[in-house]
Amino acid sequence: MENILEETKSIMKQNGIRANKSLGQNFLINKDVLESIVNSSEISKDDMVIEIGPGLGTLTKYLLEKAGEVLCIEIDSKMIKILNNRFNQYENFEIINEDVLKVDLNNIISEKKRQGKVKNVKIVANLPYYITTPIIMKLLEDKLDIESITVMIQKEVAERLIAVPGEKETGAITYTVYYYCESEKIMEVPNSSFIPEPEVTSEVIKMELRSKPAVEIENPKIMFMIIKSAFMQRRKTLLNALTNTKVFLSKEEGLEILKKLNLGENIRAENLSIQDFCNIAKIIIEKSK
Ligand code: SAM
Repeated sequence: MENILEETKSIMKQNGIRANKSLGQNFLINKDVLESIVNSSEISKDDMVIEIGPGLGTLTKYLLEKAGEVLCIEIDSKMIKILNNRFNQYENFEIINEDVLKVDLNNIISEKKRQGKVKNVKIVANLPYYITTPIIMKLLEDKLDIESITVMIQKEVAERLIAVPGEKETGAITYTVYYYCESEKIMEVPNSSFIPEPEVTSEVIKMELRSKPAVEIENPKIMFMIIKSAFMQRRKTLLNALTNTKVFLSKEEGLEILKKLNLGENIRAENLSIQDFCNIAKIIIEKSK
């Protein structure tokens, strides 16, 4: 830790850098955590790693040693200058100065694969916490041709993402992650592993893309629309939430659907499995035909 801390401080001093809070800049300084992220990502020379938010490049340095290619996407142009200076001798280093939410990752990945340069793509990042959810949603909903996503994020968010739907306190995003991925906790990370220290505890999680989604449905968008409607009013019963948001045309129709699926009329969104939501969606789709 000592060396990485000193190295980080020195890079910041030399370049006149102060961590930008509004960009979620908390730089990792814990070697054990860095090694754990890299090892759990199972990177080989056949892989291209996309690193979101490389910052000063602490994690990037490890990734460059292991991966065939490392493509960094960083919004802060001050970091771009530092990264280019640090890694210009690495042939497998590439960087894009852009907001990750605006980058067409599908296009980049298909082009790399078409050129035969990479076999697999893995996402690895210590994410900026202020946009964790939009980034994860983009990575999943864009249906990228990737193998896994290994990220450090805020602990509370991590636990919601990797929960099994229906079993624990969950949110709509729990179902999205579960639909696309099998996920696991890698490690909890104390605040002292960063400079500056974040106000929240962090966790590293790994999401491996399933070869087939968790449930079979012809139009998953409708299922996710129903899940979002159900969780928009999560304190209400599912029946009321879905009636208020017009997923059920009336309470009577809702009751009829719940009965058909053996779901109690007082059940709440968080008690439903993804299969339950899939079954509701199939009935709604059938009714609308
Ligand atoms: N990877 C570095 C590390 O572990 O020390 C830095 C991680 S820091 C938590 C998050 C990084 O994401 C910062 O470098 C920040 O500038 C960058 N970032 C913030 N918003 C971004 C966005 N919309 N697109 C790309 N990078 C972003």
